[in-house]
Amino acid sequence: MHSAAAMNPPRILDGKALATTVLATCRAEAAALHAQGITPGLAVVLVGEDPASQVYVASKARTCAELGFYSRKIELPATTTQQELLDVVCTLNADPAIHGILVQSPPPKHIDEAAIIRAIDPRKDVDGFHPENVAKLVLEDPSGFVPCTPAGCIKLLDSAGLATAGAEAVIIGRSMIVGKPLALLLVSKHSNATVTIAHSRSRDLPAICRRADILIAAVGRPEIVKASWIKPGAVVIDVGINRLADATKKSGYRLTGDVAYDEVAPLCAAITPVPGGVGPMTIAMLMQNTLQAARQSEFKKIQKPNFFLDHA
Ligand code: NAD
Repeated sequence: MHSAAAMNPPRILDGKALATTVLATCRAEAAALHAQGITPGLAVVLVGEDPASQVYVASKARTCAELGFYSRKIELPATTTQQELLDVVCTLNADPAIHGILVQSPPPKHIDEAAIIRAIDPRKDVDGFHPENVAKLVLEDPSGFVPCTPAGCIKLLDSAGLATAGAEAVIIGRSMIVGKPLALLLVSKHSNATVTIAHSRSRDLPAICRRADILIAAVGRPEIVKASWIKPGAVVIDVGINRLADATKKSGYRLTGDVAYDEVAPLCAAITPVPGGVGPMTIAMLMQNTLQAARQSEFKKIQKPNFFLDHA
């Protein structure tokens, strides 16, 4: 059994504070672009009335306003057809005021999300989900857009000075939004980790996790990661955001991660809280990607680095 008493208190990786720093840099870069007659523009498309999506979309619009970006929120009814949504994307692709397009996930069931993603101009795909950007991530091509949540996880590790080179990294979850792109980033020449991706069909998940110097949970199951899964001194990044009913809260729910924080934290060298860990970093990275899109749309005038070069 692990002895919490023998460990130093964990370092809490404060994503809210780091996101504030990243956003301050974004605001300064936006001001520099304004001076050259460019206003970074982000369009966020929301189909239907998923309450969590409405919160995310509102928060993206608010952050754009704080940074001096132009933002356009397009709210469509849940009955919107595939073709109607494709038409909206097509119009945004052609709009020079819009540098980044994001269609909030998940769309209603009748929408083919992959087809919508493929319809977004890859130069405006600030989520980094278009096949062209996925290929650029594999190729470590800095002109591509890196998905926001995985980029935020790497930024948290880097900013805390936590070594990844040669480390055993285990990611639980193989989604295209988090698990797979994060595995590519961790194994890239930027991070140089040795990476395992575990998923719902993995055998003996606790044993796989116990190998991890860096454990990243992106599962969507509240507090699935227990103290007995942790190698003492590991770094734990909790991507999960789960809403649990809680009558004591005004909203009627509370947020919890995929990690049983109270029992896991004492064993860790560092850990992210939920909320206030990865979540705020996701929005900050979206703003960085939108700036990158705005710069690259004017690439003949301005040449500025992005993810891989920033972190070289
Ligand atoms: P997803 O449902 O697409 O993928 C979940 C993954 O977990 C799958 O690959 C599945 O194989 C794996 N999994 C499911 N049950 C498992 C089990 N019992 N054991 C091992 N693996 C299991 O989810 P996602 O979009 O990758 O999101 C994962 C979590 O991260 C969710 O809670 C989501 O809300 C959260 N999330 C947070 C942010 C953020 O900004 N912090 C961004 C995206 C997603």
